[in-house]
Amino acid sequence: MLVKDIQEYDSQFFMNTFGKRTPVAFEKGQGINLWSTDGEKYTDFFSGIAVNSIGYAHPTFVRMVTEQLTKLVHCSNLYYIESQALLARELCRNSCADKVFFSNSGAEANEGAIKLARLYFRKLGMPEKYEIITLQKSFHGRTITTLSATGQDKYAKPFEPLTQGFKKVPLNDFEALSAAVTENTCAIMLEPVQGESGVYPCDAQYLKKVRELCDEKKLLLIFDEVQTGMGRTGKLFGYQKYDIEPDIFTLAKALGGGIPIGAVCAKDQVAQAFAPGEHGSTFGGNPLACTAGLAVMKIMEEEKLPENAQRVGEYIKEKLQALAAESCPVISEVRASGLMIAIELNAPIAPQVKNKMFEKKYLLANIGENMLRILPPLIITTQDADEFLAALSCALGE
Ligand SMILES: *Cc1c(COP(=O)(O)O)cnc(C)c1O
Repeated sequence: MLVKDIQEYDSQFFMNTFGKRTPVAFEKGQGINLWSTDGEKYTDFFSGIAVNSIGYAHPTFVRMVTEQLTKLVHCSNLYYIESQALLARELCRNSCADKVFFSNSGAEANEGAIKLARLYFRKLGMPEKYEIITLQKSFHGRTITTLSATGQDKYAKPFEPLTQGFKKVPLNDFEALSAAVTENTCAIMLEPVQGESGVYPCDAQYLKKVRELCDEKKLLLIFDEVQTGMGRTGKLFGYQKYDIEPDIFTLAKALGGGIPIGAVCAKDQVAQAFAPGEHGSTFGGNPLACTAGLAVMKIMEEEKLPENAQRVGEYIKEKLQALAAESCPVISEVRASGLMIAIELNAPIAPQVKNKMFEKKYLLANIGENMLRILPPLIITTQDADEFLAALSCALGE
């Protein structure tokens, strides 16, 4: 179909939640490239919002998922599921978690984490401990409860009344955080690096103190690793960049390589709070999604993608800083954690630059008028990065 015909059906039949989209439809991908329905080739530096970390049509992924597709897509959680058990084992073997539950999305994984934290204290005989402290500018999802947890009013306001029991404090402000703790607090929930609002990392010192505060006040520490997980920041999980461990962390985005899946991962002692019947999901952890997760884990390990994200991310950051110093003074700041990168501009030209890059057949995103955001597939090479940076430097110069 031509884009213009798709657009017509979209505007007639699809709810207008995404407004006017970039006028392109993709029909296939290979590696870090996508091809549109009109045959144009694009280079993807956004990965479907940090989802397509292994790139497109990875042979191992295609083989494993196709084979599973021909055998069994779904069966209910009333039965045992081999790939579910195997993926849970893989995640536990590679992280501080002892137990895993699978959902279908990031928001749902966070809902699961919130339910688990509340239930944990209820079962300890402390039902008054239900409040969760989250951070301003955070993003935790689009369900009513995860919107209530999200520290950005614009998303939540229209849907009031919200779920009770969330308090927000500024990022990296330990005083504000400890002052917000009361006898009702059950957990602190944060992204180790805030993604959606523009790549704002937690300081290592701050997180160390947050962990100590949680130990001292007997609070649970929940990391929303929906975006930072699966190698994005240069380690398999974002918390591994810091010298601490969360009690619960959540995953989604890149976990299924594009097949929807999320995960709640927790220490045994916390996970035990869920008794049979207290949480569940129809689709969550089905054979196809978990096989996709196993394929992604295998590829991450075989191709050392977290290490590559660290190396190429560092390379891009240095090159961008050099650009800022030498030829592109419009770049005012570069924030990066592995291949999670934001480029702050001192002029309101981010949307135009994004469009120029689109004309140059590069996909990236802007946040507001002053920020560009890139989330390349973790398989990119320094040569891919050089080509991208050359195009970006032209787009910024124009
Ligand atoms: C994307 C994201 C979510 C929401 O995930 P969905 O799969 O869209 O529900 C939650 N938390 C963080 C940190 C995210 O980046």
